[in-house]
Amino acid sequence: MRRIRIGAPRYGLSDANTDGMLVKIKCHACSITHCYRPADLITICGDVQLDEIAGFFRCESCGRKAFLSADWLTAQGGDFKGIRLRRLVGVRLVRVYDWEDGTL
Ligand SMILES: [Zn+2]
Repeated sequence: MRRIRIGAPRYGLSDANTDGMLVKIKCHACSITHCYRPADLITICGDVQLDEIAGFFRCESCGRKAFLSADWLTAQGGDFKGIRLRRLVGVRLVRVYDWEDGTL
């Protein structure tokens, strides 16, 4: 296994996926935490680094982004027994129309 450099500037979601880690995203206003597989987050965020992940999310409870943070989650004793995991089951694209008023 490659040496894990947690917090190092070049360690991204693809590295975490290779190393079998999870990502924990927490809202510090609501104290709600969700855990994700890095491969699922790559679908949403791309292969970004840890400090960029939270910016792609909004708390489902309070609707705010400012209180979210992301951390790597490493296996304790070789597995993630008992951890509740959020899995990506689909992606919906929403079409939004932007209008501008003008004169003829
Ligand atoms: Zn919240």
